Amino acid sequence: MLGCPVSSSPVDRMAHSRGQGLPDILRLRTGIVPAFPDAVCRPRTADEVSSVLARCDGAGIEVVPWGGGTSVTGGVNVLESARPVIVMDLEELAGLEGLDETSRLATFGAGILGPRLEEALAMHGYTLGHFPQSWELSSLGGWVVTRSAGQESLGFGRIDDMVAGLKIIAPAGRLELSPMPGSAAGPDLKRLVLGSEGRFGVVTSVTVRIRPLPQERTVEATLLPTWDDGMNTVRALLQASVPLTMLRLSDPPETQVAMAVGLATSPAASLVRRYLRVRGIGDGACLLLAGVAGDPGTIRQTLTRARHIIRRGHGVSLGTRPGKTWLRDRFRHPYLRDGLLDVGLATDTLETAAPWSALHDVRRRVRGAIEGALETNGERVAVLCHVSHPYPDGASLYFTFFFRTAADPGETIARWAAIKRAATKEIAAAGATLSHHHGIGQWHAPWLEEEIGSDGVRILRSIARTLDPNAILNPHVLLDPMERLEA
Ligand SMILES: Cc1cc2nc3c(=O)[nH]c(=O)nc-3n(C[C@H](O)[C@H](O)[C@H](O)COP(=O)(O)OP(=O)(O)OC[C@H]3O[C@@H](n4cnc5c(N)ncnc54)[C@H](O)[C@@H]3O)c2cc1C
Repeated sequence: MLGCPVSSSPVDRMAHSRGQGLPDILRLRTGIVPAFPDAVCRPRTADEVSSVLARCDGAGIEVVPWGGGTSVTGGVNVLESARPVIVMDLEELAGLEGLDETSRLATFGAGILGPRLEEALAMHGYTLGHFPQSWELSSLGGWVVTRSAGQESLGFGRIDDMVAGLKIIAPAGRLELSPMPGSAAGPDLKRLVLGSEGRFGVVTSVTVRIRPLPQERTVEATLLPTWDDGMNTVRALLQASVPLTMLRLSDPPETQVAMAVGLATSPAASLVRRYLRVRGIGDGACLLLAGVAGDPGTIRQTLTRARHIIRRGHGVSLGTRPGKTWLRDRFRHPYLRDGLLDVGLATDTLETAAPWSALHDVRRRVRGAIEGALETNGERVAVLCHVSHPYPDGASLYFTFFFRTAADPGETIARWAAIKRAATKEIAAAGATLSHHHGIGQWHAPWLEEEIGSDGVRILRSIARTLDPNAILNPHVLLDPMERLEA
């Protein structure tokens, strides 16, 4: 009927009902999922995508595009609806469609997941260099429409910088934007697709800028005496254009957790602590991870420049061992949350970004909002924070918080919603961005107008109406002002 393979198996419908935010995991673990898609379709070609959209548009069926389903903003969550809902899983659109080695451009089907994409490029000696923590499970199309940033965004850029061209199909239109190294042919329509979260159409293929595969990767760890020393050092490294690929600065609570875990098995733990105290590194210390990729000569030169600046910030080197462990485990850390749930502790993350001049204030305010969000329950929420994805003019702040679960999963979700609401309101009030890389989804949508203004929202709505007049494409993300924080 839809012109492509369709499944209505209960397992498929359940597996495509929610993303991977904390409430999604809680609902899937406890079986309190309020709505499922009526079916899951898997188009194999762009023509099949087009045919599904035409038929669904005619029949009044909602369509949720699905890449890897790793959204942490309610981006793929199916809601109860008067209309039937199908999920369009793009996993069959996952091939290397073209490689232009002269221009260093590669074109892929949008449904390709991180590991397969890197494997295909590595066979020819290239990399994309985009490694979000969800890399193993998320897709190229998903990265593009959520404006994702990988852990090495400092060196390789965020996905916005990597996209050279793309194709998108909507119920009432189609855009085929060829790769151009630069263009002044009117506003850049690619930029409209970036961040569109499935509202403007289904991305079927993407041309990305690729780089030679680096010979080596190294991550060096340093402790800086205070948060101020850390922030000043990261800013100095950025503004001196040291060609690092990653910088990540943990605040004192996050550093203490990292040190406790890192030193737990070391027989020399107390000696190390004493040595650090002698070097002026106490409880206010901040852990800085600095990553670099390339050939051995480039790595050596870059680290020499970086160390010079880090020493000026009174940094004490911990060498490359902590970095090796971090590189080994970097895609596994988030799933520790499943084990914590088993022992009654819920954890989630949220992120923002702001100019350097505002960053201290934003961290203080958002931290305070999260810590105090469950005061009425008599609980002080534990918060860790790090700076990552730095730019010459500012950086992203990434918060991890922990709170106790309740016996009733609905109550745990209500506690999560209280924290998320308090933090999001404070981020908006502080003038920081609603999201540096997780996107808007359903959960941040009510606050979008505060960031881009009512005319900004009106312009985006009119584009959605032009491409999708019957609003069948993922209608509750990005532009739906109703608060849907689940509680
Ligand atoms: C453990 C964990 C760690 C994470 N770490 C990071 C991180 O380091 N950096 C980061 O940027 N994000 C991170 N995320 C968030 C998430 O992985 C990103 O938002 C990612 O880009 C989503 O890709 P996806 O393919 O899974 O998209 P999905 O979750 O399937 O979809 C997300 C949104 O995009 C739409 N969509 C998907 N594919 C298409 C398409 N082809 N055409 C049109 N619309 C489409 C969906 O409808 C939905 O609105 C993390 C998530 C988890 C669970």
